[in-house]
Amino acid sequence: MTAAPAASPRVASDAPMVEQDAVRLTDEQAEIMARARRVGETLFADRAAEFDRTATFPTANYKDLHREGLLGICIPKSLGGLGAGYQTYSLAAAEIGRYCGATALTWNMHVCSTLWSGPLADDLEMDAAMRATHNARREIHYRRILEDGAIYAQPFSEGGAAAAGSVAFGTEAKPVKGGWILNGKKIFASLAGHANYYGVLCTETEEGEKASRRNTLYLAIPATSEGISVVGDWDPLGMRGTVSRTLLFKDVFVPEDAALMPRGVYYQAALRWPHMFMTLSPTYMGQAQAAYDFTVKYLRGEVPGMPPVKRRMYPTKQIALAEMHIKLQQIKATWFQAVTEARPNPSKDQVLRAYAAQYTTMEGANDLARLAIRTCGGQSMLKSLPLERIYRDSRCGSLMLPWTAELCLDRIGREALYNPGETDE
Ligand SMILES: Cc1cc2nc3c(=O)[nH]c(=O)nc-3n(C[C@H](O)[C@H](O)[C@H](O)COP(=O)(O)OP(=O)(O)OC[C@H]3O[C@@H](n4cnc5c(N)ncnc54)[C@H](O)[C@@H]3O)c2cc1C
Repeated sequence: MTAAPAASPRVASDAPMVEQDAVRLTDEQAEIMARARRVGETLFADRAAEFDRTATFPTANYKDLHREGLLGICIPKSLGGLGAGYQTYSLAAAEIGRYCGATALTWNMHVCSTLWSGPLADDLEMDAAMRATHNARREIHYRRILEDGAIYAQPFSEGGAAAAGSVAFGTEAKPVKGGWILNGKKIFASLAGHANYYGVLCTETEEGEKASRRNTLYLAIPATSEGISVVGDWDPLGMRGTVSRTLLFKDVFVPEDAALMPRGVYYQAALRWPHMFMTLSPTYMGQAQAAYDFTVKYLRGEVPGMPPVKRRMYPTKQIALAEMHIKLQQIKATWFQAVTEARPNPSKDQVLRAYAAQYTTMEGANDLARLAIRTCGGQSMLKSLPLERIYRDSRCGSLMLPWTAELCLDRIGREALYNPGETDE
């Protein structure tokens, strides 16, 4: 019996989500975006259904991200990374989100460990000694990522108000000689059991001291440390490949060089660099684009695996697609503006726009997926096609703390009507 011929490798053909010339991206930015789009389209798109069906972590995709240098996208060039800033990362992540939501979302958790300790920390205030220690420590983390392909997770959520930024994290780090002893629990920890390091937000608390948000620490703890366990099932509606299980920390010793940010710097970042909480939005921007792209291909009779039946000649379909197009442009324009103006000490307007962009992207992606299913019809939502996965994955976006869709609404309403310190007394 002759072996079946190997499937011919996919060739990248999708256009960039954002045109280089139209928004004046540099060649370097366009190249990083193209790199992300190429791995997404030619490799991740075909694997996404299996990771989703089995709710397993996309390990193969991470090997590709490492090979392409994309695990180190935000690591400064001087330290061997691609040196991407906030906007470039966002554009690349949106390209990945077009093809595999779970990979884009978990890649975001990983990249934040380098974006926040890298370009973002460079914008924050530190004295010379603190800066020197920080630079030496981050090099250790960056080397692991670039040389060994180490993956960093970002478990913040605890099920209370801490991840929303309202109170101190309940996970406690007690200072001891050479480091800390950590105790606590993190829920929905994407990459649980698959990351090499857990970038945990916790509160440094001396014996008898009251927990304060000012004492938040951001520590990258080796996943193999004694006292860490991954518990609970993982069988959710969407974003199934994120494997966001529960992490328990019981008397875990964490060495000093695990700090991804020095004391007090995370608190400073949260106050002065609020766009740091918008880095999940590119995943949903990509999903919005994917829902629209699918609809165009479907109506043109060009979806692989489907009979080449055209439906584009019906005026009803044309109107429906026009409405989707307008919605996509609205989402993209708001989002692009917000990721472009991310900076330290943004104006009130810029912060309100960031909340609006986060809300618009997360809610808009699912709305486009809904419209795509309605427009394409019954055959389009079969499990053999990506649209039903995009519909489920995109629904999960609005739930991400600290900037959930609800919290964005809360903040826009309050901050648009009150200046800092204003009351109605
Ligand atoms: C697919 C997926 C992946 C995820 N990955 C991660 C991850 O990698 N890391 C991570 O840290 N988290 C992750 N999360 C968790 C996410 O960020 C939220 O923490 C989680 O969805 C919150 O659960 P909930 O909606 O049940 O919130 P709840 O438990 O209902 O809300 C959390 C708490 O926030 C507070 N809160 C809610 N609304 C307000 C408000 N208006 N004002 C003030 N406080 C408020 C309340 O005290 C509330 O108890 C992920 C979630 C999903 C769905």
